[in-house]
Amino acid sequence: PFVTVEGLDFSGKSTLVSRLKDELAGLDPPVYFTREPGGAAAAERVRALLLDPELEMAAWTEAYLYAAARAELVTREILPRLGRGETVVCERFLDSSVAYQGYGRGLGAREVRDLNSWAVGTVVPDMTFYLRLDGEERARRARGSEAPLDRIERVGDEFMGRVEVGFEEISRAEPGRVRVLDASLPPAELAGTVRDEILGLRAG
Ligand code: C5P
Repeated sequence: PFVTVEGLDFSGKSTLVSRLKDELAGLDPPVYFTREPGGAAAAERVRALLLDPELEMAAWTEAYLYAAARAELVTREILPRLGRGETVVCERFLDSSVAYQGYGRGLGAREVRDLNSWAVGTVVPDMTFYLRLDGEERARRARGSEAPLDRIERVGDEFMGRVEVGFEEISRAEPGRVRVLDASLPPAELAGTVRDEILGLRAG
């Protein structure tokens, strides 16, 4: 099965995935963990472009680069492993592009999906875990502090607000695929829930 983990920055995706690595180690067939953008040599080069703070780029350039990195990861890692019966867990996938480039940058959900259809082909996650985090908790994590928020912080970042709307709409449109999780739950509890779901998927 193919499983993805989605959510806003600071929602705890990396923490969840690193716990899952421990919880799902040593299985046969194995569980392969990867992340976007990156996860394959050429895709990591593209990641460096995307995350370079000095480099300005148009929204469509960004969308194509995410799609390019995704095409590489799908072709070189995801498809071959799914073909061998492995489980693949990917931190971020197409839903992130729809949310960030489609909603956040305003390119449109349909447009971003169309562009990515060539990159993903027939690869669709069997299950997606969306770590839902409210704006206030996200801002608190962003500041790395438990202190109460001031007025500006409470208003929150407009871009992230649009990305959040994107994730919410995706999860509403596809309730069968997308499991919504409360990202403020204790990490061990979240990891346990997701582990059990993945084991259930593998059992078929
Ligand atoms: O997942 P990670 O935090 O490493 O993502 C790196 C950065 O790329 C984040 O700041 C995220 O907001 C951004 N991103 C994006 N569009 C995507 C995926 C990630 O803007 N499709």
